[in-house]
Amino acid sequence: MLSGQMPILILKEGTQREQGKSAQKANIEAAKAIADAVRTTLGPKGMDKMLVDSIGDIIISNDGATILKEMDVEHPTAKMIVEVAKSQDTAVGDGTTTAVILSGELLKQAEELLDQGVHPTVITNGFRIAVNEAKKLLESIAMDAKDDATLKRIAMTALSGKNTGLSKEFLADLVVKAVNAVAEERNGRIVVDPANIKVDKKAGGSITDTQYINGIVIDKEKVHAKMPSVVKDARIALIDSALEIKKTEIEAKVQITDPSKIQDFLAQESDTFKQMVEKIKKSGANVVFCQKGIDDIAQHYLAKEGIYAVRRVKKSDMEKLAKATGGRIVTNLDDLTPDVLGKAEKVEEQKISDDRMTFVTGCANPKAVSILIRGGTEHVVAEIERALNDAIRVVSITKEDGRFVPGGGAVEAEISTKLRHFATSVGGREQLAVEAFARAMEVIPRTLAENAGLDPINTLIQLRAEHEKGHTTYGIDFTQNKVGDMTKVGVFDPLRVKKHALESAVEVATMILRIDDVIASKKTSSSESPKSENNPSGMGSGAPSF
Ligand code: ADP
Ligand code: MG
Repeated sequence: MLSGQMPILILKEGTQREQGKSAQKANIEAAKAIADAVRTTLGPKGMDKMLVDSIGDIIISNDGATILKEMDVEHPTAKMIVEVAKSQDTAVGDGTTTAVILSGELLKQAEELLDQGVHPTVITNGFRIAVNEAKKLLESIAMDAKDDATLKRIAMTALSGKNTGLSKEFLADLVVKAVNAVAEERNGRIVVDPANIKVDKKAGGSITDTQYINGIVIDKEKVHAKMPSVVKDARIALIDSALEIKKTEIEAKVQITDPSKIQDFLAQESDTFKQMVEKIKKSGANVVFCQKGIDDIAQHYLAKEGIYAVRRVKKSDMEKLAKATGGRIVTNLDDLTPDVLGKAEKVEEQKISDDRMTFVTGCANPKAVSILIRGGTEHVVAEIERALNDAIRVVSITKEDGRFVPGGGAVEAEISTKLRHFATSVGGREQLAVEAFARAMEVIPRTLAENAGLDPINTLIQLRAEHEKGHTTYGIDFTQNKVGDMTKVGVFDPLRVKKHALESAVEVATMILRIDDVIASKKTSSSESPKSENNPSGMGSGAPSF
């Protein structure tokens, strides 16, 4: 600023601005803090976190995505890292903690280069070169998943560390069964839609009471006590309109002056329901799933005909029922013909804990199936549900791709080793960034070792030695608490999960490194009003702390 000249203000008063090095430092610190928040949960020996929300509800979890979702993160850069976990979770369903820890470590390594005066663009270029090479390496390490035994090991790896207790193997079997049931072949490719596996939970019983159902479980009871509790050889009508009399748009008043007319009026209404039920009966249906309501009188007639009926079934469940039973959802009862009915060996109401649920089982070739989770408490079944959903996703992905890689830090150690050699061929300052990337990869085996109480330095030295010898599948074997061959202990991760974790970690690290100016507007007074303080979106209303 020239002496005597007024500074030119281009920003509104109160705007916070941080530029250059200090902006970068602050951003990197924030990213590292997020990575630190989840690092102790990584791997089979990871710890859990107890999250208490603003109304006192508790979640106990070990899942990176869940933890970060529940934490009310406010710092803008930290939020970007949280997004990585979310996107990893939506895209592949697992590897969220890995992605977050990797991004934190990439930034930590980058910070050292920045301190040495390496320009951020050089670093991001180097990271790009390194990640492309790393992806090639992943492809070359990957193996073909040929059988159910491999799928089961992949499920078990995804389940380890979650609070599944001793039932990991039991649950893994259920997952493989379910995924195999819904896998379809389309244009010569296997496609698995995890949405076709309905995971339901009921607290009570023990984890080993969790069951696979060759069909669909609906958390609803039959609408009328006089209906049968079991229907064998079920022919199922799936109706998405109400079995009620339509209310007119305009409010109509019927004035009945003559008492005898009341009888007529009621009889007329009752006739309408009788006709509805007649139509259902004529189609041959003995079970009705209705997405909307069923009027009391209609219920009465259905019960009289011995038809089992459930009302207000969720739309998503109706779709699964259609897939499982081969039926078609109809809106108009006139379209209810024998060929649109779904089929199942049995539809049955069962009492699970204190609730009654409807089981549709014995479907011939179900394209949708269910798993009903049981376990001691709400917290247990909720964590099992999260764990099972992860396992279902990874097994589905592996079934589709047919490719997996050794887990337990093996791929990260291998990439690290190979990249260190590769770096010398890069030359220039980018070489430094490739080397930094190689070092960052080791954060995964190091953290796995730390979380299990192993000596991280010794473990890494041994691991490096094995990989230098060409033992590409060596990682950390927790059955023996030492470095060992992952193909022997059967610790496998899907190729797609690892690839995605790498890509998204590099992407966010790059994005953060490219920022050299943070301009934060002063919050407008409206956002400081008490209304926004209990803003349900969970976005903080305070100024971001830099
Ligand atoms: P993420 O959210 O990244 O999936 P996890 O806590 O599930 O985090 O940990 C995943 C890591 O733990 C992977 O690197 C995986 O290979 C490793 N892992 C899981 N089970 C075992 C095991 N039994 N032995 C060694 N490593 C394991
Ligand atoms: Mg996992």
